Amino acid sequence: MSLGQPGASRLEALYLLFSAGTRPRRYAYRAEAEPDTNDTAIRQVKFDPVPVVSVGRNENVQEMHRGQVDVRSTGLATRPSDVPIPVLYIAGEGRSGSTILSAILGNHAGYFPVGELPDVWQALQTNELCGCGQPFANCPFWRAVGNVAFGGWDSVKIDEILQQEARYTRHRRIFQLIRQSRVHQADAAFHAYCERLGQLYSAIREVSGCSVIVDSTKRPPFAMLLRNVPSIELRVVHLVRDSRGVAFSWNKVGIRNVQYSQHPTLKDSPMPTIRPWKSALRWDLKNLLIHALIPASQRLFVRYECFTSEPNRELDRIFQFAEANKMRDRTQVIPTSTFTSKPFHTLGGNPVRFTRGSIDVRVDAKWHTEMPAMHKLIVGGLTFPLLFAYGYIAVPWAHSEHTIFGRHPRRTQQEG
Ligand SMILES: [Zn+2]
Repeated sequence: MSLGQPGASRLEALYLLFSAGTRPRRYAYRAEAEPDTNDTAIRQVKFDPVPVVSVGRNENVQEMHRGQVDVRSTGLATRPSDVPIPVLYIAGEGRSGSTILSAILGNHAGYFPVGELPDVWQALQTNELCGCGQPFANCPFWRAVGNVAFGGWDSVKIDEILQQEARYTRHRRIFQLIRQSRVHQADAAFHAYCERLGQLYSAIREVSGCSVIVDSTKRPPFAMLLRNVPSIELRVVHLVRDSRGVAFSWNKVGIRNVQYSQHPTLKDSPMPTIRPWKSALRWDLKNLLIHALIPASQRLFVRYECFTSEPNRELDRIFQFAEANKMRDRTQVIPTSTFTSKPFHTLGGNPVRFTRGSIDVRVDAKWHTEMPAMHKLIVGGLTFPLLFAYGYIAVPWAHSEHTIFGRHPRRTQQEG
């Protein structure tokens, strides 16, 4: 069966079943920006980012955040560069520790976390809080990025670009994205959207002065879309957590959605929740899509449980993978049993990004004792093949310490 044949529509229907209703809704609200936010007459912006606390060997990051960076707006004509933009993309299901991994990477020289970049258009529309604590419209970093990329956010046709985003980056449109990714079939709108993304990432690199942009969007379709942006050199960290831990986390109710805390109508809205059976199917689907859409040479498999129990070892693997192209000197791992959560300019993601100070890196294994047995049974049953392949479930006839994706997850005392 090939795409475009009748069987493809059945797969699309199956996909809809898995993914429908689980994405936070878009809000039709235009932020009341500060008077000077959309001043397209500004031709030069002083970006004076929030100063950050020094942690170990992050000299470049300190320098990047301390100094004022001159950002000259070039309107739509962002200068093309022959040097590709390294983007380290964290792919996987939500609630798998991507926000913490992204923050820890951001403590290392040259790595700049932006959170979930497709949320930039929604952030522009709803004026949600940036990870630095400022509303998007007031954040000096994103204002500078908007000026460099587009000559000011005011020149972005937000409705048009949200339509393009819905058309190309939603899971339910994955087959359309695959069709568009065949160069000879791509339409002008697809090229235009890819070009905007290229301008955006280029501006982030220019404003931040970073070497590697860390994008924790997690969605497999967006990773595939980035493969179509010529100026981006993509590396994907495939982050996996036990499906039962993920389902337990998605089923929690009443977690405050901090990013809308200054929004007039959304400030009391909670984080979305997902029922265990649906979370299990999403987990299956997203992980399978990552294997299917991203070539093995461009992705690195990382387990949440290994990362939280042996962070130094896993960080070293990630740096080795991200820097395999020798574009920069090898980054030295900062010993990480705790890390300092800094005010990064991140969009979307777990509310932990608004926490400040020291955070312990440890396995969150509450699901072992607090998750109802029936939920464990349902989620474990629906995700059994991949749980086994990833080494989360041992069977009597498999005694090897290794799975096809590397070592078995380390059993720590926290996990019981
Ligand atoms: Zn910010």
